[in-house]
Amino acid sequence: MDQIIATLRAHLDALPKRMRDADSKLNGARAAVASAKESLTQALGQRKKLELDAEQWKERAKKYRSQSSSVKTNEAYKALQQEIAAAEAEASRIEDRVLEQMMAIEEIERRVKHVEADLKEAEQAVAAEKKQIEAQYHDEKKRSGAASAERDEVARKVAEDVLDLYTRISKKHPGSPMAEARGDQCRACGLRVLPHILQLLTSDTDQELFRCESCGRILYSLEPIPHAAPKVAADGAAGT
Ligand SMILES: [Zn+2]
Repeated sequence: MDQIIATLRAHLDALPKRMRDADSKLNGARAAVASAKESLTQALGQRKKLELDAEQWKERAKKYRSQSSSVKTNEAYKALQQEIAAAEAEASRIEDRVLEQMMAIEEIERRVKHVEADLKEAEQAVAAEKKQIEAQYHDEKKRSGAASAERDEVARKVAEDVLDLYTRISKKHPGSPMAEARGDQCRACGLRVLPHILQLLTSDTDQELFRCESCGRILYSLEPIPHAAPKVAADGAAGT
């Protein structure tokens, strides 16, 4: 019962980590959304900047044009016409770039929608997983409570001094205060168990308690108790 309880407790204790692990599955999808949105912000900023640039060149061309009536010489007039043409060409060149930028923005907007849909899908999957983890947690908590009650029931039937000893050894060897003696060895630490102790362990008349001399665990044997064996066979339960 203690081993069952320990296993259940370990599961129950792992709940926060399992929840965190489930959440961390969203990290990639969240990062993709953040990155796409960042790209969009940058692209929108770039478009704004280009639009302002184009506007400035257009203003410049307009200003030059308004000056053309007050120019005195033919040469100066020609030079001003060239300035106007250059400013208008620049404005037009930048406007082409604005158009390109707008197409790039549409592409990025599609990407944002796509990664947002991916994130939503991942969130739903993780929510379902967390719900399942919680359901399992409640089930295990219930089983752990039942196991503890059953353990107390069993413990009540064990002599107090034996139970004290068991508790003490449990502190040193959590989950395995007892060890099977088999093939003349303590199966927990490997130390040799003396033959006469093995014999006493399998005797149904001897009530003495033996501990491994090395690890201190309480020894038990699963080998059939010789006196009981013929009776079991006679009952037709042989071969078990
Ligand atoms: Zn041992």
